[in-house]
Amino acid sequence: MKGVVVMSGGLDSTTLLYRVLEGFEVVQAVSFNYGQRHKKELEFAQATCEKLHVPWTTIDLWSSGLTELLSESNSSLVSDEEVPEGHYAEENMKATVVPNRNMIMLSIAGGIAVAKKANLIFVGVHAGDHFIYPDCRPEFVNAAGDAIYLGNEGFGELIPGPIVAPYMQQSKADIAFDAISLGVPFEETWSCYKGGAIHCGRCGTCVERMEAIATATKRWYAMTGEVVADQTPYQDTEFWREALKRSTV
Ligand SMILES: [Zn+2]
Repeated sequence: MKGVVVMSGGLDSTTLLYRVLEGFEVVQAVSFNYGQRHKKELEFAQATCEKLHVPWTTIDLWSSGLTELLSESNSSLVSDEEVPEGHYAEENMKATVVPNRNMIMLSIAGGIAVAKKANLIFVGVHAGDHFIYPDCRPEFVNAAGDAIYLGNEGFGELIPGPIVAPYMQQSKADIAFDAISLGVPFEETWSCYKGGAIHCGRCGTCVERMEAIATATKRWYAMTGEVVADQTPYQDTEFWREALKRSTV
């Protein structure tokens, strides 16, 4: 079976790519440039794909003018709004929602999949995304898959229900655990929304990442007795613990 993988260069989709390569041929990995603070992520995505010998492309939504239109939503990912700090469970994280993001990405990936005669489209959404992003929920992902399948019947090689989200019912810590088992180097993935030289350690994705990796490495140690260290450099290595406490009170 052949697949197209939507890949951002973050922890989730990088782990997804490693996982998919265990059982499928990846005919294309595709990333999306919103022109936002995600440039860094794209560099990481490209490096990983080169390392794994997977064809990689980036779709530029920035120079197409789409980012400019989307920035009217005031999402801090596409506009100049400050990226909020803290835990995702906090209300201010709604500022990181890009309107219709997954539909845009999946429909483009769907077109590539049909053209390249792929059978499946893989995406790395997980249970922790559901709370804030409606387009990461199973209802949406399944409906989008149905729409792509119906809209291309008789063309290409897609199978019914072509979108596969293997981490849909799993937490980010589960993904980090899978990353360890697959030998994904954490430091070769980029999560930070701020786009500095190294991970800030304070934005929503940094906090979520550090919490997930801490949980996964603990679980890995409990199961195997093997110590796995996160080699990613962070500007602030302690803030995530505070943010976590704050979000649970
Ligand atoms: Zn950050």
